[in-house]
Amino acid sequence: MPLDLVTVPCLSDNYAYLLHDPESGETALIDIPEAAPILAELEARGWTLDQIWITHHHDDHVQGLAEVLMAHPAKVYGGRGDAHRLPDLDFDLAEGDKLVLGGESGEVFDVSGHTIGHLAFYFPDSGIVFTADSLMALGCGRMFEGNPEMFYASLQKLAALPGETIVCSGHEYTTSNGKFALTIEPGNAALISRVEQVAAARADALPTVPSLLSEELATNPFLRVDQPEVQAAVGLPGGDPVAVFAAVRKAKDNF
Ligand code: ZN
Ligand code: FE
Repeated sequence: MPLDLVTVPCLSDNYAYLLHDPESGETALIDIPEAAPILAELEARGWTLDQIWITHHHDDHVQGLAEVLMAHPAKVYGGRGDAHRLPDLDFDLAEGDKLVLGGESGEVFDVSGHTIGHLAFYFPDSGIVFTADSLMALGCGRMFEGNPEMFYASLQKLAALPGETIVCSGHEYTTSNGKFALTIEPGNAALISRVEQVAAARADALPTVPSLLSEELATNPFLRVDQPEVQAAVGLPGGDPVAVFAAVRKAKDNF
């Protein structure tokens, strides 16, 4: 039986996620931007937290932890490389490690670039990946600590997952990401129609995440650095993918 996935809006534009195994009743939380909405969702569903998986050290992904733990004394997992700047962990994780929730196991990827030591969690049986501020809907996180080689390699790991994978990213940035993406690929029909769908969803105050990896592959400029239109937009026709990625990332920083 696939795992149940719940998106929990937090703060002004963050998302946390709950993953629940209906057979065992076990529940995991991915990131803790803010305790109140997470506690309310758990209460409404009658779920108790067993595990908390942290993607990276930024405050807007960890700051609700102490308050959530008071109500739900779950085991806390986070990156080994990030452990010195994360709250106290029960278990540290690195690329290749496994997570287990009920009968399903998940894979840990290092997706450094936004930060060094940023993790993603992939559940192949349910087809869900938690990417936080690495791969985002129509974009990727700002490159605060990593370098283009690293960030490009991280995004390529995620791009290689099956197209039907559900991408659970960390923020509602899709509207501005879409405006930028259109400056890179104004002729991409899939992008134009996605941006229209995003506008309609936001007009109804609906989240635009999670998204499907296949949509990201068709519309997200950071996954399309091999496309001639993307290369031309940053003045690097036939350019090396890492150089094109770096140029697109820089253009977004200045957008
Ligand atoms: Zn972040
Ligand atoms: Fe964030």
